[in-house]
Amino acid sequence: MFSNLADSLDKTFRNLRGVGKISESNITDALRDVRLALLEADVEFGIAKEFIAHVKEKAMGADVLKSIKPGEQIVKIFHDELAELLGGDQVGLNLEAPGRLMLCGLNGAGKTTTAGKLALRLKREGRKPLLVAIDLYRPAAIDQLATLAKQVDVPVYTPDASESDVVKVAREALAWAETQRHDVIIFDTAGRQEIDERLIEELKRLHVFLQPQETLLVADAATGQQAVSVAKHFDDAVGITGIILTKLDGDARGGAALSMRSITGKPIKYAGEGEKLDQLFEFHPNRMADRILG
Ligand code: GDP
Repeated sequence: MFSNLADSLDKTFRNLRGVGKISESNITDALRDVRLALLEADVEFGIAKEFIAHVKEKAMGADVLKSIKPGEQIVKIFHDELAELLGGDQVGLNLEAPGRLMLCGLNGAGKTTTAGKLALRLKREGRKPLLVAIDLYRPAAIDQLATLAKQVDVPVYTPDASESDVVKVAREALAWAETQRHDVIIFDTAGRQEIDERLIEELKRLHVFLQPQETLLVADAATGQQAVSVAKHFDDAVGITGIILTKLDGDARGGAALSMRSITGKPIKYAGEGEKLDQLFEFHPNRMADRILG
């Protein structure tokens, strides 16, 4: 992820650093290259434009141009704006006990894997999680969650094959969790190939019933701008509290990661960076900006 973008930025900024005295036209040229690099990385057009305008405004400031190392200063301005675009400060989970966390997303985004990863993280943080499979359409998804639960050694609540009402399953799972003194419950909901109204209606019902503190969208970073529009849809439907971006270990261009926060206004809380169950990491905008700048 981000390797092409990082290469292009490296080249542009190396040129800028090499210039002894920087003129406005040096900055304009460099930022034109940066804008192209962002667009090539699949950052949404309006975001790239606005982002560059911000950087330019700060970079053109008299203090920068007159400073001893203007090139360095401009790279720093870029870094800080990038961290801001990615969300600024890291935002953790808000899961006071008894915590309810609902995961939603399209099929294949990595929802069930992420449920297992989150359970492992929370367990390591000293919590007592319960996983709940609430996908009543795909028995395979229930089996998958049960297998992952076993791997991370966290209990799982699975519904009867005949069950068709998500709210009923959720109610039973909550009752079970209480008897077992679980202090955080992770609900792995049904996905779809694409957004459809029935799925959304079901999610809304479940959401109204559960009133979860956290409703996290699991989105596949490799799907680029599609991931961003999916996030908007889910947010309109249930009001997500954050995003988990998966597959950041892949070779996707990175546009989804860069546009997501700005378009949805919701923080990226975690990043999945591999199929293994311990490969879920807190998303730190600042560190991500460091990584992009190499
Ligand atoms: P779901 O349909 O949304 O529940 O998706 P799954 O959890 O079944 O994941 C779909 C595929 O993506 C599986 O092969 C996972 O191993 C894989 N996957 C999930 N998260 C990541 C990740 O962060 N990186 C990589 N490389 N693969 C992932």
